[in-house]
Amino acid sequence: MIARNPVAVEVCDAKLDAQSAPSLSWNQQIADMIKSPQELLSLLELPEALLQDALPGHAQFPVRATRDYVRRMKKGDPSDPLLLQVLPLHLEQQEMIGYSADPLSEADYTASKGILQKYHGRALLITTSACAIHCRYCFRRHFPYSEHRQSRAQWKEALATLPGDGGVSEIILSGGDPLMLNNPVLDELLTLIAELPQISKVRLHTRLPIMLPDRIDQGLLDLLSNRPFKTIMVIHANHGAELDASVEKALARLRPVVHMMLNQTVLLKGVNDDSSTLAALSERLFECGVTPYYLHQLDKVQGAAHFDCGDERLSSLMQALRAKLPGYLVPRLVREIPGAPSKTPIFA
Ligand SMILES: *Cc1c(COP(=O)(O)O)cnc(C)c1O
Ligand code: SF4
Repeated sequence: MIARNPVAVEVCDAKLDAQSAPSLSWNQQIADMIKSPQELLSLLELPEALLQDALPGHAQFPVRATRDYVRRMKKGDPSDPLLLQVLPLHLEQQEMIGYSADPLSEADYTASKGILQKYHGRALLITTSACAIHCRYCFRRHFPYSEHRQSRAQWKEALATLPGDGGVSEIILSGGDPLMLNNPVLDELLTLIAELPQISKVRLHTRLPIMLPDRIDQGLLDLLSNRPFKTIMVIHANHGAELDASVEKALARLRPVVHMMLNQTVLLKGVNDDSSTLAALSERLFECGVTPYYLHQLDKVQGAAHFDCGDERLSSLMQALRAKLPGYLVPRLVREIPGAPSKTPIFA
């Protein structure tokens, strides 16, 4: 979690006036994130009429996006695929049968506070509730995060509940976004994990390399280096336009210190639900040294029904995608079914 230092905010406002935003530290850029639909619409030169539609969704799950991310959106285009991921629409307010606040029944799987173990061999640690973006389709938009806010002592306690016999060999750092933690805190957490001899892999699920390439600083590279476990970075890009030159550079900095870089995508109607967009994303990920991993069918979370592509088109979509890409760039299409022993493949 980020200390919102008022002095830092003042400094960053002054610099923004001087049009020198890139020189802000990553913490300052987080403090300076876009936090209102008004500002988002005005930066993108979109009609104010869209505001009324955005306000109810904003009240439920507030708008959050970094300025870096918003700069990659096309001005004046209300259907920009990046914008659709962050701007609340009136459609969120529809009550839809089959959509719930906790579609993955995560409440049932909390082994101890802040740790979720659903699958054999890997346990997921909730590190922070903070994110550098609020994705409108997020399956955790209704998640009771306050119950999962952890102190360092609680991490230690949660990690101590893991079986010592090799039953769990991988820790997944999730949240929220684990890279929202400051370097000293993350360093301490990785050091705690390094003391567990049964852990051979640590995975970070993060959107920060995309939302805020400056987050990939030297301190982060240093604290990831020379650990007794192998580190896997899973980023989350939904569209090729998210991966601009600054993101590519950040990923290039990460590559030497991590064992694997993977990407997961959520299939989103109006954002990426066509084979050309998905193929372009895979090719762009390849250029950035990242392997496509999962393509998730949307979790049925209340407020996200307008992103649902349904199942009928999946087969033709995947066939078209396979026809455009080498096999190693085709992501695995999966959905999450509560109680299943893994993500469930969709053979489409
Ligand atoms: C998705 C998920 C994982 C990771 O699954 P993989 O198939 O290994 O990527 C682990 N734990 C939980 C709780 C998950 O939701
Ligand atoms: S970054 Fe991940 S956890 Fe955060 S809002 Fe987006 S999808 Fe949800």
